[in-house]
Amino acid sequence: MRFANYPGHPMLHPALERERRAVAAYLGGCAQRLRELLPLVVADANIEALHDLRVHLRRVRSAFRALHDALPVADAAGLAAECQWLAGRGSGLRDIDVFLHRLDDYLDGKAPEPAPLARLRTALGRRRAHERRALLSSLHTRRAQRLFARLEVLVHPAVDAPGWTDEPIAGSTLWAAYRRVRGPGRRITPESPPEDLHELRKRCKRLRYLLEMYCAAYDSDELPDLLRRLRKLQNVLGDYQDFHTHAALLRELRAEWAGSTPDDAASLALLDRLLAVLADRADEARARFASRFAQFDRPRHHRRRRRLFAPDPLLAPPMIGSAGYCHGWATGERIALPVGKVVCVGRNYAAHAAELGNPVPEIPLLFIKPPSAVVDLAPAFRIPAGRGSVHHELEIAVLIGRRLRDAQPAEARAAIAGLGLGIDLTLRDEQDVLKSKAHPWEIAKGFDGSCPLTPFVPVDEDLDLGRLGTSLSVDGVLRQCGSSAQMLTPIIELLCYASSRFSLWPGDVVLTGTPAGVAALQPGDRVVAELDGLITVHAEVV
Ligand code: ZN
Repeated sequence: MRFANYPGHPMLHPALERERRAVAAYLGGCAQRLRELLPLVVADANIEALHDLRVHLRRVRSAFRALHDALPVADAAGLAAECQWLAGRGSGLRDIDVFLHRLDDYLDGKAPEPAPLARLRTALGRRRAHERRALLSSLHTRRAQRLFARLEVLVHPAVDAPGWTDEPIAGSTLWAAYRRVRGPGRRITPESPPEDLHELRKRCKRLRYLLEMYCAAYDSDELPDLLRRLRKLQNVLGDYQDFHTHAALLRELRAEWAGSTPDDAASLALLDRLLAVLADRADEARARFASRFAQFDRPRHHRRRRRLFAPDPLLAPPMIGSAGYCHGWATGERIALPVGKVVCVGRNYAAHAAELGNPVPEIPLLFIKPPSAVVDLAPAFRIPAGRGSVHHELEIAVLIGRRLRDAQPAEARAAIAGLGLGIDLTLRDEQDVLKSKAHPWEIAKGFDGSCPLTPFVPVDEDLDLGRLGTSLSVDGVLRQCGSSAQMLTPIIELLCYASSRFSLWPGDVVLTGTPAGVAALQPGDRVVAELDGLITVHAEVV
């Protein structure tokens, strides 16, 4: 049976759907255009078609690079590298074409002697032919064919295809790309080396392509305004770079010609004249840069952009659990991660399985506590009244810092943001009834406040996760004492397995199972929980 208002695929949040549509349309448009351009470039390599081909390769590359693990495309990062390779193969040809296009302008209306000019045109023509052959041979390689075949697949990407990220990322992606332009741009001074401006130009391009891609996802005048200012900035940086590239080309020719033939003087004079013009033009472009950047970086626009790219509060995950809990470091600082679910494992210590008369499971026995279960352990935590015995299960708590899905061990290790302790509070009598009926345990395990957590400590790379001791005493009497060495499924393996069953998100916590010694808590009990010299916490049960 299927509900009428519940179609075949899950409903997407409208913001998420807008983003995916914008990206899909953009990539589809690029793939379509590349398909049309390829034969034009192969037939003629004319400047417009070639330029267009490279721009579209760069657009695809920018999208893949920025969103590589958020797209329904296999190996997007690899595809990005291939697009960059092929776009780079056309750069020599494009530089010469632009130079030839601008030559009259560079001559500034003053006609040179015909012979040196003819010599220059011939030399450039020869280089152009060489660059064109090199580009054509690249376009005919298996490598390029494979790239185009893979890009074809993007012509109609579906918004409900598996592999899209479930998080809205347009805002954070644009904000990051914007800051990568603004920060270095503000640091540029009249003394900055040309490389700094060239690098800034690349960053402008990446931001521009991302803005063009996401434009359709935003209903705001601010985005087109930002694009306009960015294009003006990018044009002046583009001119500046062209003047440099063209000067380098002329200097190469000058080195080749110097001393090669008797009539050098006139040819070299022409090159020197052009080099002087290019040096002036580069200075002018640099002077224009400052004012263009100031127009791009007006404070009130910056404030509007910050608001525009900030995450929609309705989509942001809650930062707090129950009773104002938020993840924190043992030093007292707050951890900037939302409070997510708690993935728990039952019977991960053989001695504990035995004390409750349970068999040891063949695969980890997982269950989940919701974010509303999470509270601070210290200075005091509550237990429910009138619902039978409430048992303590002291467990090592792993705070997840990166998204994990079907993780490999190294990935899982790298995703650990911190270690702490948690008490898996359990309504033991209620759980026994549920178990006897083969019902799920949630109401015995996931009630509000059922997961008191200590603050976390960061994890050193060389910390041995296989030898972490824990202890819990109640009113001075040691109740639970264990070591992660006794775990049936060790911590990293457990994270890998859990991530194969539930995606783990930043801010989620994994409780790694309790050693033997579980028992009931009473109001007024004084609890001390310890994690191997890293954490000691005193708490009162209320
Ligand atoms: Zn437990």
